[in-house]
Amino acid sequence: MLITALTKLTLLDFPDRLACIIFTGGCNLRCGYCHNAEFVLPEKLRALSNTIPFETIKNFLYARQGKLDGVVICGGEPTIQPDLLEKIAEIKEMGFQVKVDTNGSRPTVIKKLIQSQLVDFWAMDIKDSLPYRKELLGVPVEETAIRESIQLIKDSGAEYEFRTTIFPNYHDLKTLQQIGHELSGAKKWALQKGRSGKTLIQNFNNNNEYSESDLKTLQQNLLPYATKVIYRT
Ligand code: SF4
Repeated sequence: MLITALTKLTLLDFPDRLACIIFTGGCNLRCGYCHNAEFVLPEKLRALSNTIPFETIKNFLYARQGKLDGVVICGGEPTIQPDLLEKIAEIKEMGFQVKVDTNGSRPTVIKKLIQSQLVDFWAMDIKDSLPYRKELLGVPVEETAIRESIQLIKDSGAEYEFRTTIFPNYHDLKTLQQIGHELSGAKKWALQKGRSGKTLIQNFNNNNEYSESDLKTLQQNLLPYATKVIYRT
């Protein structure tokens, strides 16, 4: 597993748990608004001098037994790591709960992890109404893969949330209602404020952003699509 960074403590990223975050390197998508270019683009990954061996992570976790509840594995995209299942199994054996953040494009991997009952919490990005627009994601993404992952996660028996990072230029109410239709009946959907700044594709650097009152209005309109709909600023 290629590990690019470790956040030693988060109170926010794994609901109701004290957790650390392991960042994995590499992603199969190229979202224009991505803020993690150094963990996504192969040429930037190759230039990283300080990747973290899994043994170092294990030593850190041994020292945190009884102090942390869980481990968040995010990316990049964790499901492209060939040994993800084995590494999660080792983390679980140490007594930690595991949350996996995924873009949902690899349902085969998600299915294996669900069958192995290794993941306690899933967070899956739903980036657009289906089919995903290539101008937003950078590469084509199979519509059927996203639908399959949504269903797998809904039926997994694990805790989960779907989340959508939203920008006024791409995610108007109609688009979000179409996403809501795909998620229909999900337990939780989080609308996350998309931010401009240093993004993977320069065109997105100056993207407009939703205000908090816009987010609240959208959230109110989308309440029918999931048991809980929240927004994050
Ligand atoms: S936003 Fe997530 S899925 Fe998109 S390129 Fe960045 S890491 Fe990959």
